[in-house]
Amino acid sequence: MTDTNDSTDSVGDADSGQEEADGTASDGGADSPLDDVLLDDIEDGDADEASQGLFDDLLSGQPIFENKEVLRPSYTPRKLPHREEQINSMATILVSALRGDTPSNILIYGKTGTGKTASAKFVSDELERTSQKYEVPCEVEYINCEVTDTQYRVLAQLANKFIDKNEAAIEADLDRLRSLRERGRTNADALAETEYDSVEAVEDRIEALEADLDSFEDVPMTGWPTDRVYNSFFDAVDYRERVVVIMLDEIDKLVEKSGDDTLYNLSRMNNELENSRVSIMGISNDLKFTDFLDPRVKSSLGEEEIVFPPYDANQLRDILDHRAEVSFKGDALSDDVIPLCAAFAAQEHGDARRALDLLRTAGELAERDQTDEVEEDHVRQAQEKIELDRVVEVVRTLPQQSKLVLFAIILLEKQGVHNINTGEVYNIYKRLCQEIDADVLTQRRVTDLISELDMLGIVNAVVVSKGRYGRTKEISLSVPVEETEAVLLSDSRLGDIEDVQPFVQARFDN
Ligand code: ADP
Ligand code: MG
Repeated sequence: MTDTNDSTDSVGDADSGQEEADGTASDGGADSPLDDVLLDDIEDGDADEASQGLFDDLLSGQPIFENKEVLRPSYTPRKLPHREEQINSMATILVSALRGDTPSNILIYGKTGTGKTASAKFVSDELERTSQKYEVPCEVEYINCEVTDTQYRVLAQLANKFIDKNEAAIEADLDRLRSLRERGRTNADALAETEYDSVEAVEDRIEALEADLDSFEDVPMTGWPTDRVYNSFFDAVDYRERVVVIMLDEIDKLVEKSGDDTLYNLSRMNNELENSRVSIMGISNDLKFTDFLDPRVKSSLGEEEIVFPPYDANQLRDILDHRAEVSFKGDALSDDVIPLCAAFAAQEHGDARRALDLLRTAGELAERDQTDEVEEDHVRQAQEKIELDRVVEVVRTLPQQSKLVLFAIILLEKQGVHNINTGEVYNIYKRLCQEIDADVLTQRRVTDLISELDMLGIVNAVVVSKGRYGRTKEISLSVPVEETEAVLLSDSRLGDIEDVQPFVQARFDN
């Protein structure tokens, strides 16, 4: 899904390699335009002809993109159309932090690509900016729980961030105090407007701060007992007066992987903190994840709830219009491109990420075609490519037993078998297992695996009644045979199976 820009990236890479190899870049400097470099080559007459032809063609087309980065997921837009209501709700709750009060905890729900992360980051930037402007101590910490997915790691990451912040603040205080001390030594009036009545008092404060600095210890990424990590975090947060907002993005992944202990601990911190206050903002893709929470955690975390509904096609169009203005050359998009991307993404539960991926991939395909306009057809190709990338990724990461079941289904399809049933799949599956020395699961388990493949959208399995012979499943493949088979065979164990013909025969031995 991510490598849609293979060919375009390789254009850039290979070209910079060529600059170095030819030495032509040395006079023009690193940022001289590529065209100049290539023209120099031609004039010098010493260019490598093969690479000339190769890159010439690719570079000659009028570039489609003005700034492709703007279409990548890592880019945080400054404007988020159709999220005003959600952003205002967040701000209304979090503004208490700027008044020195503890904001309610917030739980944000919505499917992927509905702008949750982008909106939360936008609000957090604004909050920190305003807090600096009015000099109110308020800090926001963002954690992506898909990456940081255990209680230990979440607490350690938070502890270390606050230790860093405390250290920076102490260093700044120390600078100020040391210079005050110097001025105080030569001129007693220097202390007049300060909280210190003598140079010794300043000295004591400096020593106390230096001792604090020495006492801080970073939490290692593994190895400590969890209590100790929690205590470090607690002490670091409580070191200064402030309101802390902890954003836990993809919080459902944390709960799924490591239970709700982290949330339990975080949500009761305020009872014990003396100087600071903590408020939690949880962001979840899964609407039902609170069902798995301890009721106390659930009610504490869900003090306020904000829902991010899916975008409809018109809203997606607005979003794409905004981005396209900056990312594409003036007239690089034909009229139907954005509406079609929006329509496809609206079918994909209103996912703005998908809409942006489609637009970027369509642009890359047009670039590859060396045209100067992205056409409707590029969007259709982009849709196929993204869908195929998704399938490849899902198949590649299947557990081995599921791969074997899927391989059996593929072998049957390739034989032209229609309405494949579970028994047929099972017979071939068994032979495949024996061939590669894998455990053979029961037919019942294999039936379950088929249902999982169905849920993943890889096969389509319908239950049909066979009258007094009971019920069976009729199975067909929902993904392209050749590509899927290639992914399976790239698995080293499955790739070892050379001749599949005998296994296919097995279906007749029923
Ligand atoms: P979520 O966190 O809900 O899965 P994101 O916030 O990551 O979704 O959004 C997915 C992509 O769509 C990001 O690239 C984001 O910048 C973009 N996006 C989402 N909503 C909007 C919007 N209202 N305006 C502009 N871009 C948006
Ligand atoms: Mg997100």
